Formats: sequence, C-alpha cells, structure tokens
Amino acid sequence: MKRSRLALIAAAGVAALALAGCAGGDDSGDGETTDSDSMVEFEEGTTMAELSEAGTITIGTKFDQPLFGLFDPAADAPVGFDVEIGKIIAGQLGIDEADIEWVETVSANREPFIENGTVDIVVATYTINDERKEVISFAGPYYMAGQSILVNADNDDIMTEDDLIGQPVCSVTGSTPAAYLDELGAETLLTDTYTNCLEPLRQGQVVAVSTDNVILAGLAAQNEGEFKVVGEPFTDEPYGIGLAIDDTDFRMWINDVLEESYADGSYEEAWNSTAGAILPFIEPPAVDRY
Ligand code: GLU
Repeated sequence: MKRSRLALIAAAGVAALALAGCAGGDDSGDGETTDSDSMVEFEEGTTMAELSEAGTITIGTKFDQPLFGLFDPAADAPVGFDVEIGKIIAGQLGIDEADIEWVETVSANREPFIENGTVDIVVATYTINDERKEVISFAGPYYMAGQSILVNADNDDIMTEDDLIGQPVCSVTGSTPAAYLDELGAETLLTDTYTNCLEPLRQGQVVAVSTDNVILAGLAAQNEGEFKVVGEPFTDEPYGIGLAIDDTDFRMWINDVLEESYADGSYEEAWNSTAGAILPFIEPPAVDRY
C-alpha cells in the first residue's frame, strides 16, 4: 500500500516538473492542483492527511443489502451504491479502491464501530438523526430514503403503516424503522439484519418486514416473485456518512467531496451502476453543513 502511494507521489512529482518545464519554470509549486490523479495536500493533523498518508481507509458498510451494500464473494468485497460512495471518498484521499478495507457493519454496531475506531467511516444506509449525533457526526445527507413495508407476494391485507398496528412485524435492532414500529404499536420481532427477517416472513411468523424502501426493493428484487413492497414511504430517512464526533474538518471535507460528486457526474454514475438497475435516479438532497 505504501509503495503504490509513493509511486503515485513520484508520478505526480514528475507531472509537476513536466508542467513547470512547459510553463517556463514559473510554477508556484504550492502542491494544490485540480488534477484528480495528482496528490492532494491536506493540512497536517487532519484525518484527511492521516488517511491519505496511510494510503488506506477502513469503511463500514452492509454486506447483505442488495443495491447498497452486498458482499460479492467473487470480488471478495462488497458492491452497491454505498460502496461506490465510499470509493469516491477514498479516491479523493488518493486511496485506490484495492486499498480500502471493508468491514461489515450491521445496524446496531455502527455507532460503536465509529466510537471505538474499528472503522474510519460508515456508509451503510445510515439515517442521520439527533440521537446518533450525540455520539458520532454525519456528513451528507447524500440520499433520501423512507420507511416502507414488504409483505409476501400473495398478501393483499397490508397496504399502509396503520395496517401494522398490533401486528407482528420484523425489523432490525438499532434501526430507526424498529423504533418507529414501536411508536406505531406494532409487535416488533427484532433480528440483526434484514435478510434474517425474510424467513419469518415466509413462514408467516410476521406479516411484514419494515425498513427503508430502497432496502426492501433490493430484497424483493433478489427474491423475485416471493415478496412485494406496498404503499408509500412514511418516514424520512436521510442517509449520511458516519464519522467520529466533532471531526468537523473531516465532515466538511466529505461534504465537499459529495458536492463535487454531484457536480461532476460521479454520484449519478455510482447510482446508475448499482441501485439504478431497478430504482430511478433522484437528485441528491443538499448536504447539511451543521
Ligand atoms: N436507515 C435506517 C437506519 O439507519 C434503516 C436501515 C438500516 O438499519 O441500515 O437505521
């Protein structure tokens, strides 16, 4: 990892020298360039400088959510929209995607993994909310999802959130949809991942699985003909990138990276090559520079 970074620095140095030569040697040499292949200078002591210098970043994401973060054994890495967002951030740090260390996060361990340094960032269908912001910080949002309902394909009884009241519904520990189901008065069956909700749904142990619309759409597509997503989303789930609390420089820098990806088309490309296979592209929400 170190070696490839040194090689990149060397290449950037050569390019800078060549440029200086062409311009008659009057290059200011401040190291700031807009060429995405060249090394970016980060202020010493910042997380960006540390990660860029290390040449690697550890990113927490989901490993069982089609479209956003699904482990691909052939690639020995996860694939999906969240994974592409992680790669965009790593790329802006000068880190090659082969040098990203992917760690599986489930809903309940995302804050602890950020707090104890297991991961540098989490990109994992991660809703920004005030409770979580007490222990971590969020860049973004970069996508707006909403809680919805998945039922067996032959179930025509459940259409809206009200139909879940008093009914057994599966969701995941530590997730915002699980908290909302409690508020609603559903009988919540909790597990650790959404895929683990599918068997109880098949078996009729629960009448529905409830979480973000995009997660449910991925599960329905993965298990064609078995399930369907019903009704309209009934909450706002703004997805953010989790990072250490009060690392304001890093948060603001990731917000810059997101905005740049909106402007230069890489965000849309990330969408189209992943979730865009079955979901329409929607313009990203404005980042929140709190
Ligand atoms: N976006 C919701 C959350 O962050 C649900 C999806 C998930 O559990 O990852 O809790």
